[in-house]
Order: sequence, then C-alpha cells, then structure tokens
Amino acid sequence: MFKKILIANRGEIALRIQRACREMGIESVVVYSEADREAKYVKLADEAVCIGPPASAQSYLNMPAIIATAEVTDAEAIHPGYGFLSENADFAERVERSGFIFIGPTPESIRLMGDKVSAKQAMVRAGVPCVPGSDGVLPEDPKEILRIARAVGYPVIVKAAGGGGGRGMRVVHTEAALLNAVQTTRAEAGAAFGNPAVYLERFLENPRHVEIQVLADAQRNAVWLGERDCSMQRRHQKIIEEAPAPGIARRLIERIGERSAGACKKIGYRGAGTFEFLYEGGEFYFIEMNTRLQVEHPVTELVTGIDIVQMQIRVAAGEKLPFTQRQVAMRGHAIECRINAEDPYRFVPSPGRVTLWHAPGGPGVRVDSHVYTNYVVPSNYDSMIGKIIVHGDTREQALARMRTALQETVVEGIQTNLALHRELMVDAKFVEGGTSIHYLEGWLAQHRR
Ligand code: ADP
Repeated sequence: MFKKILIANRGEIALRIQRACREMGIESVVVYSEADREAKYVKLADEAVCIGPPASAQSYLNMPAIIATAEVTDAEAIHPGYGFLSENADFAERVERSGFIFIGPTPESIRLMGDKVSAKQAMVRAGVPCVPGSDGVLPEDPKEILRIARAVGYPVIVKAAGGGGGRGMRVVHTEAALLNAVQTTRAEAGAAFGNPAVYLERFLENPRHVEIQVLADAQRNAVWLGERDCSMQRRHQKIIEEAPAPGIARRLIERIGERSAGACKKIGYRGAGTFEFLYEGGEFYFIEMNTRLQVEHPVTELVTGIDIVQMQIRVAAGEKLPFTQRQVAMRGHAIECRINAEDPYRFVPSPGRVTLWHAPGGPGVRVDSHVYTNYVVPSNYDSMIGKIIVHGDTREQALARMRTALQETVVEGIQTNLALHRELMVDAKFVEGGTSIHYLEGWLAQHRR
C-alpha cells in the first residue's frame, strides 16, 4: 500500500479523500491555491503546499505544479477527486510518465470514454443499450444528415462528441431546423472543446436520470454497486440524488448493472466509474460514462457499506477487489442534498464569510463539508459547500431524517439553497418518487418568487 498520496483537489472532496487516507494509515499531501489557505482540509493536512493563485488555471489545473509537488513531497500516487483534472487523459499520462500512480482509470480508458462517440460505440459493442442515433460522427453531406435524422425520428438532439458539463447540445423538433442546428453546434463545439465533431440521437421527452456505480480492479474483476437516481436537476446540474431509484423493478436494474460491470471487463476498465443512463418507458439508454469519483458517491456508500474512495486507492495500488458481486448487498435508502452557496431561487452565487455554521446530526446522518464558522467561501470556484446525506431503512424514513437534518442545519452570513431543499422534501410529487429530469425546472417556474 502507498505511504503517501497527493490530493489534487479542493473543498469537501479534498477532505473526504484525506479522511480515507487517515483511516488507511496513509499520509496525505494537499495542494491548495491562495484562495484556500484557510480551508479545513489544509489546516488538518499532514502536509500542505500552496501551488498558485486563486485562478484554477494556475493552481488546481496546473499540471507541472502538481506533479512537482508530488516529487518534492515524496508522494507515490495522486488522487484527482472530481472536476478539475480528474477526467483529463493527458494529466493521467503525465502523472504515470513522471513515475507516480494516477488513482483512476488508465489514460486510454479516460480517452475512450471522454469522446462521447467512441464511448457510445464501445458500449454498443459491449451490449449496453444506447439512445438510438447516428452511427458515429455526422457526415458533411446535408442530404445524408437529413436522412439519418429521419431514420432516427424527431425530436432529435445534436451533441458534440467532445462535450461535457451539459454544454454542446441542441434539441431539434423539425426537419427545417436541423441543418442550422448542426452547423451552430459544430461551430460552438470547435470553439469550446477544440473538436467540431457532432453526432445525433433521439431526444427522449420525459426521461429519468439513473446511473450505475461500478468498481473494477486491474485484474479484470468488476462489480456494480447499485444505482442512483439523479433526476432532480437544474440546467443539467444535479442537486438531489438517491438510491435505490424509486419504482423501478429490481430485475431491470440488475440487468443494466450486470451489463455495466460486463462492459468494464470488456474495455479493461480500472477504478471507480459511473455509467449514466436515461430511463424512459421501462428502458435504459446509455448517455455517457464518468471515469472518476462522483459528487454523489456517498449515497452508494450508505446503502452498500462500501467505502468507494478506499476502494479506488486499493485497486490503484494493484490490490484485487476484496469482494465479489454476490457479496454486494444494498440495504435501506439514502438521499443526498447538495448544499450550494447561492440564492435558493435565483441561483446567483453567494460567496463570503460564513458567520455561523451548524451541521445536523443524529442516526443515519452524514455531512461531507469543509465549512466551519468564520470560513470564507471563495468566489473562484464551484458554489457547492457541502452535502447532507441520510440513510434510513425505507425511503419514508430517509425523507423524514433529511427533513429533520435540513431543519437543524444553520448557515448564516451567506445565502444557501437550504430553503429550496426543505421545500422539495415535502413536495408531494417528489415524496411520491420517480420524477423526471424536467420536474425541478417545472417546479421552479411555478414557484418563482
Ligand atoms: P454532459 O456530458 O454535458 O453532462 P450528457 O450526455 O450526460 O452530457 O447529457 C446531459 C443531459 O442532457 C442529460 O442528463 C439529459 O438531461 C440531457 N440529454 C442528453 N441526451 C439526451 C437525449 N438523447 N434525450 C433527452 N435528453 C438528453
């Protein structure tokens, strides 16, 4: 096992990884920007190294500075967390070429899955169901494009092969609008992702977002750890996640879970990963794979009792997965609310000093946050300041625990979305379960104040 790991991230996930290291008796080094000097994980760190100014490009995305820090601190492996460099194949390659271990999949896997067209093709080959669409990148010939769209059936969605973060997508309802949409998406994709290739698929009108967590080792063992329903989204940003997905037959989930684990074995995947699906009319359709740890991983940890971060570290060190699929059991129900520093209804970021911070507690309540009273939330990064995750024997109990936890939570000095979460936890449709990816936006439009 490693003696020392460098954590190339910030915020709650830097603290989460630090905790996993401590429990495993591994020392950790955190890198931080000048804006994060006072962060909790920096104060708690075994070693902390400032690698640059607040701007991410000069700190958390600064590959030479991160790798040089691993060198001078004698770290053996680098954990990239999520966001920042976590899905950057070039970074993974540079880490390995510099003699360190990247805690994640191989650069080849990251590259394969980072291009949505090659990812989809690999999934089709592995027997994972995908949204019907073009076979690969759209050709230049306008007639050919129109023919493909007609065969797929309207409405369609034009997507950039290199897209991410909910960008580089355009929905087209009629043939008359198609060629323009293709052209615009190509131009945008070229500018934003350096790759103008686009593809097309059927636009599903009212799907749910259900994803499968997988774990694989370097010996080609792969397991799936249940699903998460992440349909509560605004502008493609998840804000509530839960497991299991309410109201979906277990045999359907098992089938898609087995396919996902099977696909990992076929492509030689290593580490933690997530297969994202849209679910509509009793069918799952693959949309993309995230080749990293996800924000919502605690939901799965609470229902399976498996520490996903520790597993990432163990398989990166070459260990075999310590359990088989048959030993993975799901118990009860878990829900996560992402707490953001923002206006709860207008979503304007609200950085600044937290003058009072009271985290909730009690049975089945977990809080992953780096915030404390007097901490200043910097304006330079994502607005998420923590996550409240609850577990109960049933969904009803989990909901009740989340309501209590949200009532107990006090954050003063900045605005947060706590009020929104409190309302959603008593919303009749959400409480019933099984809302689609459009539900939250519709709800917000109705409740605008
Ligand atoms: P990104 O990598 O930018 O997150 P995804 O491919 O994961 O892109 O898609 C993001 C979101 O866009 C999905 O969660 C869903 O809301 C919507 N979306 C993507 N493809 C489709 C589709 N074929 N039909 C309907 N909605 C889609």
